[in-house]
Amino acid sequence: MNLILAPEYGGKVLYHTSEKAVPNKFHLKVKFSDDTVLTVRLTSMGLIQAMKDNELERSYVFRRDFNPEVLSPIDEKFTFDRFSKLLTGNNRMLKSVLVGKEAIVVGLSNSAFPDIVYRARLHPKRKASELNEDERRSLYDAIRLVLKERIRLNGKDQFYDLYEKQGSYTPAMGPNMKQQNCPVCETHIKKLSVGGGHVYFCPKCQV
Ligand SMILES: [Zn+2]
Repeated sequence: MNLILAPEYGGKVLYHTSEKAVPNKFHLKVKFSDDTVLTVRLTSMGLIQAMKDNELERSYVFRRDFNPEVLSPIDEKFTFDRFSKLLTGNNRMLKSVLVGKEAIVVGLSNSAFPDIVYRARLHPKRKASELNEDERRSLYDAIRLVLKERIRLNGKDQFYDLYEKQGSYTPAMGPNMKQQNCPVCETHIKKLSVGGGHVYFCPKCQV
């Protein structure tokens, strides 16, 4: 069986060396033969699923985050040329090109999207096929940077790792920038409806 854990809007997935350290509240507890324990607690919308190998394709989260047939931005095969080719001729808006089950890459979440397009200085409603080579390059660099920094800093600042060590990556753009001004141009940050969700962005920097 495969255990799929997706605490989409918050939660804690923790590994405990003994039963004594297990918290009172959890949604799933897995006890291992060496008496160590894994607990999962979701604090908002999220998903816990156990699936056999041949069922994995049915899982939206698996297809979005782990599909081995789709390019992963942390893989060495994720080159600018490959990424660029996938963008060219793709008529969809960047959100669905980068996030979700139809995306050309795996592993990018809703919360990574505003961070990436802000760093790439691209408007959240741009279409992939409209981007020129410089813009495609900026987008590629922004994806690499965000993922590299998230990994280096042990994840986002509101999340914890298996050992309850808090992450320290703060997104350059996202709900944390609500009611604030852009640190680059001081324009008031705005919220936009994109692809069934909200995206914070700088109306001056992102064109
Ligand atoms: Zn700005």
